[in-house]
Formats: sequence, C-alpha cells, structure tokens
Amino acid sequence: MSSAGQTTDGSRLDGVIDSHCHLQSLGAEERERALESARERGVVGFLVPAIRLDDADLLLELCDRNADIWCALGTHPHEASTWQPGDGKRLRTLLQHPKVVAVGECGLDFHYDLSPREVQQRVLREQWEIAVELDLPVVVHNRESNEAMLEMVRHPDFSSLRADFHSYSGGVEMFEELVERDVYFGFSGMVTFKRADNIREILPRVPADRLLVETDTPYLAPTPFRGKPNQPAWVVEITRRVGEELGWSAEETARRTTANARRLFGLK
Ligand SMILES: [Zn+2]
Repeated sequence: MSSAGQTTDGSRLDGVIDSHCHLQSLGAEERERALESARERGVVGFLVPAIRLDDADLLLELCDRNADIWCALGTHPHEASTWQPGDGKRLRTLLQHPKVVAVGECGLDFHYDLSPREVQQRVLREQWEIAVELDLPVVVHNRESNEAMLEMVRHPDFSSLRADFHSYSGGVEMFEELVERDVYFGFSGMVTFKRADNIREILPRVPADRLLVETDTPYLAPTPFRGKPNQPAWVVEITRRVGEELGWSAEETARRTTANARRLFGLK
C-alpha cells in the first residue's frame, strides 16, 4: 500500500500494538477471527493480561502459538478473594516463561468492591513485591481507589516499580504524582467517548515516551462501535483519536506507542 493510501484509508494503520486486550474473554473461534482482522488492519502485537491465575494455561498456549502475543499473569482486584496462600510461589514459577512480560492485571477497584478492600490491598502488595523482585513491570487497574493506590505507590518498597496504569482515569492530581515515577499511561476507547474530557485532558500532559494505546477488549469499545464487544482491531480508531488530540499523525502515534510498549514490556 502506498503511503498516500495509508493516510487516506481509515481501515489500516501499520505497526500498532494493543497493550491491553483480554483475548481469554472471547470464544476460541471468535478469538481467531478477532486476531485475523486486527492483523489485517496492521496490528503487530497483543498484550493479554490475566484476570485470575487460572488464565495462565490458556494465555501461555496462545503465546506459544503466536509470535505476536505476550501476556501478563496475576490476579485482578475483582478476583483478589480467590488468591490462595501458595499463589505467590505459583506466580513466581509462571513468570519464568519468556513471553510473560509483566505481572497483572493487578490493582484496586473500590467502585465495584468485588473483593474486600483489605484483601485487594494485600494481594496487590504481594504481586508488586514479586514484580520488584523479578524486575518485571506491573499492569495496574485503579478505579475509585486513588488514595489507597498512591499510598502503595509511595511505599519505599516500590520505589523501583515500573508500571502501566492501564485505561488511565485517575485524574490530573494523581497523574502529576505518578508521572514522576517509572509509570506509563494506557489510553483506551474512552478517549473517543463524548463525555470523557477528563481522559482527554490528561493526554497532552503525558510524556511522548510514556504513552500506550489499548482496547481493553472486550470492554470500552471506541466510537463508532460503542455498545459492541470490543476487539483488538479497533485499537486503530483509538490510536488515530489519540494522535488527533496530540496533533500527531496516526503513523507517528503508532510508531511512538509501539516503541513505548516494546521498551516497557521488553517485547522482541
Ligand atoms: Zn483489563
């Protein structure tokens, strides 16, 4: 395709990485179709974060079969109550696999409170300790839990923590504190939502080398696909919109965010 074709053809954008897609939430056939259409549109990488440790078998199988898929393993705050005493050891072992590039998805969610808050905090602390020990980045979910999250981030044990705050929605004040650390910020389909000025106002503040794009498949489908189950192919729409907000071309936005994902997660 000519470069002129690339700038006018909205359907394709070469070299994008979807830094957060839960491919385990799709059925096997649907997943293969979604991967195929994403690759057809120019998506060159998929980072799949676990929701629970039991996702590991499926995610490792996907990673082994596909050169362009990597995963993060860990336990989401919604599932923190499922964390067992031996899970730290189990996670350490799983993290030896070369395509497991991060710990996660881990975090705090005081909006849904699906696990008790003190359990969420304990399980998050244990996962961050493992990440620091093994020098791996973490993929962080934070919803309506800014204060407790910042308390964790400020703890001296985590001064060297490297993190992707995925689908960042924590506001300007928290951003200003996080950006002083080794934190990357993921932008999802929310950047395209009409009532998401609070997300878009963060974008121009993010250093160009700390910006990531993601779909958060199957959630948060971007405009004009809102309400449908999301898919990695639509990271193209998200990347274009992020570029528009920043005054960058779509190609430049893809190039920068992909370089950032490769650097943070060590993707080869
Ligand atoms: Zn997620």
